Amino acid sequence: MSIREWWNKLKKETKEEAEKKREGAKGKEEKAEESFKYPNRFVKFYHLNKEKLNKERRGSYTSRRKDGVCVRCKRKVVPGIVFCEYHQEKQKEYNKKARSK
Ligand SMILES: [Zn+2]
Repeated sequence: MSIREWWNKLKKETKEEAEKKREGAKGKEEKAEESFKYPNRFVKFYHLNKEKLNKERRGSYTSRRKDGVCVRCKRKVVPGIVFCEYHQEKQKEYNKKARSK
């Protein structure tokens, strides 16, 4: 075998090896990324649906505000705020407690 042939064979082999390694590494990386993103299927479900869930949550909050319905119950709100009289009082108490701490 001439040096030239030997060199070509070596180049070819290292190239194939490098490709195999790269593919293997790629597969591993993807798996690692997948498990990093989604530790379990519930989290995966949450991540895949969070935009939809957030939109729904926001939607109900804003539509309740628009309808003048308390965000904590179904009663009519005090004009200008998002709570009914009962929950406005609750909120005031809560704020008082939070401040006195
Ligand atoms: Zn209420």
